[in-house]
Amino acid sequence: MKKYYPIATPILNGNEKKYVMDCLDSTWISSNGSYLDRFEQQYALFNNTKHAIACSNGTTALHLALLAHGVGKDDEVIMPTLTFVATPNAVTYCGGIPVFVDSEPETWNIDTSAIENKITARTKGIIAVHLYGHPANMDPIMELASKYGLFVIEDAAEAIGAQYKGRMAGSIGHTATFSLFGNKIITTGEGGLITTNDDNIADTIRLLRGQGIDKHKKYWHPVIGYNYRMTNVQAAIGCAQLEKVDWHIQQRIRVAMDYYHFLQDDDRLTLPVQKVWSKNVYWMLGVVLNQSTEQQRDAVMKRLKDNGIETRPFFYPMHILPPYSDKQIYTDFPVANRIAAQGLNLPSHGELSREDVQFISETLRNNL
Ligand SMILES: *Cc1c(COP(=O)(O)O)cnc(C)c1O
Repeated sequence: MKKYYPIATPILNGNEKKYVMDCLDSTWISSNGSYLDRFEQQYALFNNTKHAIACSNGTTALHLALLAHGVGKDDEVIMPTLTFVATPNAVTYCGGIPVFVDSEPETWNIDTSAIENKITARTKGIIAVHLYGHPANMDPIMELASKYGLFVIEDAAEAIGAQYKGRMAGSIGHTATFSLFGNKIITTGEGGLITTNDDNIADTIRLLRGQGIDKHKKYWHPVIGYNYRMTNVQAAIGCAQLEKVDWHIQQRIRVAMDYYHFLQDDDRLTLPVQKVWSKNVYWMLGVVLNQSTEQQRDAVMKRLKDNGIETRPFFYPMHILPPYSDKQIYTDFPVANRIAAQGLNLPSHGELSREDVQFISETLRNNL
């Protein structure tokens, strides 16, 4: 039988089973328990932030962070157009308006030189997305934020363990969010985290996460909250994943280095970069097929699929999606339009051997 190469697979090769069994044996399976406390504490240490707050997924993490920063009706939040749909959706949940910015051709992240033009009297904040594991250029973003009094949220869903100028991605903005979905660098099945050094933001997020229940008065709800909690079972998996987080990150980097080895001399392809100021954790190895049209890219993906290799296209830019395309001018985003049409992600998980990567790379090159 021909081997099948999925784009992603969770790797549960540590204490996951042991800790989950412990939850079952002790009956602590709901949203209280010692694994939750431990997971939050350990993640805060790992991420070098004062607080880490676990929640139900990366989308609710974004929603909670935006609510804690006070985003409400018609508030504008600036973000890259090339991101996952959760980033603008979370702003929309708050009644706010996502404002899109084009991408940098090299890192595929938000073009920081194009942000200032988008700031208006209604702008409340900026979401920096660390796409595919490479950190956004945070210094100019933080400078603009302080000049205009804006908040900065890092959407670090894809960048657990990445670094910007020696600092953890997710410790630089006022708040950061992470996803622990099954294909992310570490996983709890579904799950999310919010990190911050700000005690007030942390308190607000904890309040909103748990139905807005008053800490001192049971069944008293001073605000409208949400049930966005994580369970102890998920946190148990998270604790085990976190014990080996450096290994999980190293596997992504190893696979990326193998892809570089087999693909970097092919001038029909553009591979991800690692700027000197960054540590890229290569969540998903992206390649841009230079010169190709969207139809040609899709045809390449189809031929790879016929060879047992699962790939996926880069995200569609948000400004072309039906909920967000209103009033957007397509030609305002030339870089994102091109990258999104030419880009695809290759299998990028830690169970791929060098031979697997060689096979995938050669199959790609033979089918361009
Ligand atoms: C995965 C992801 C999210 C959402 O995370 P979920 O846990 O799937 O809700 C948000 N933003 C980005 C950039 C992502 O890649």
